[in-house]
Amino acid sequence: MKLNIVCIPGDGIGPEIVTEAKKVLNKVASVNGHEMDFTDILMGGASIDVHGVPLTDEAIETAKAADAVLMGSIGGDTNTSPWYKLSPEKRPEAGLLKIRKSLGLFANLRPAILYPELRGACPLKEEISVKGFDMLIMRELTGGLYFGERHTVEKDGQKVATDTLTYSEAEIRRIAIKGFEIAMKRRRKVTSVDKANVLDSSRLWRAVVNEVAKDFPEVTLEHMLVDNCAMQLVKDPSQFDVILTENMFGDILSDEASMVTGSIGMLASASLNDTKFGLYEPSHGSAPDIAGKDLANPIATILSAAMMLRYSFDLDKEADAIESAVDKVLKDGYRTGDIMSEGCRKVGCREMGDLIAERI
Ligand code: NAD
Repeated sequence: MKLNIVCIPGDGIGPEIVTEAKKVLNKVASVNGHEMDFTDILMGGASIDVHGVPLTDEAIETAKAADAVLMGSIGGDTNTSPWYKLSPEKRPEAGLLKIRKSLGLFANLRPAILYPELRGACPLKEEISVKGFDMLIMRELTGGLYFGERHTVEKDGQKVATDTLTYSEAEIRRIAIKGFEIAMKRRRKVTSVDKANVLDSSRLWRAVVNEVAKDFPEVTLEHMLVDNCAMQLVKDPSQFDVILTENMFGDILSDEASMVTGSIGMLASASLNDTKFGLYEPSHGSAPDIAGKDLANPIATILSAAMMLRYSFDLDKEADAIESAVDKVLKDGYRTGDIMSEGCRKVGCREMGDLIAERI
């Protein structure tokens, strides 16, 4: 199979972790007789430095022509980087919002898995962490509060700011269908999260999710209020399989779920559109504090590459091979600094990439 992949190395540790993911993908390709064609594009700070904008129209066209996009991370130190003196629409993160919108990426998938070898990093009590967890948060990405109308006006001598949270039935239906489809490949449980006791948009969300559920009788559906879900994630995370939710709730809950694993360098993510196309990236940021020092953990990006093989190319066997190579490396006791524990061997970003590639 020929795979046409666009890579966005990005900023900070981005180029280092993408290099290791490419190394692992090339190994999978050579073992399984696939051909990988990689094209790099600029986004974020790297694009601002060259083009003055965080993402050019040409870069978007290149991404659209690919089968999938693999991204490192973008952005710099928000306190010191000159990129953050620019107006908001010219800052690195504006590139991310623009590419998601241009590629029609409406479904964001973030797995949060507690690996048995990394249980010590989980900040929860042992009686909770011992049960382990393996959940996937599916967040709507292109609607809701972040894309609604907003304005700030002067009223009675003070500023008044307004943001609006809007969802249409069609927007809810397409993400709900994706959520149920993915649940069918997992443990067949969907927890739909909303604030239906207060918000109209949430009441519509709940009604549409109930309709979609009728087409997936094998999937168990439950509804949960977002404040309760925030508590349940620390009280009993093992209860969750797929959490389906709108944009802002998903933004917050997926960060909470990441922190509960205790290992931000391990968490992959995918953003999908209506077709097989997707953008795959680690959940973490560009870690400017450790950039260029061979200290970054490349596993989140490598696992994102595995998700790319599974969801964009239906190469499940190859995706499994990457995931079990990661498991083996952890079992063999190799760790980057962020997940280091006593009795393990500390390795850098490059060596971690080599060790995973060797195990494929
Ligand atoms: P961050 O995730 O970059 O870093 C938080 C902490 O985790 C840092 O101490 C960092 O060293 C560590 N860390 C993160 N990834 C790691 C890895 N793979 N290996 C080892 N350690 C790792 O979050 P931040 O510091 O809040 O943000 C830094 C920049 O990244 C900002 O400009 C922010 O806007 C951007 N950001 C980008 C994305 C993205 O590209 N999608 C996501 C989040 C943040």
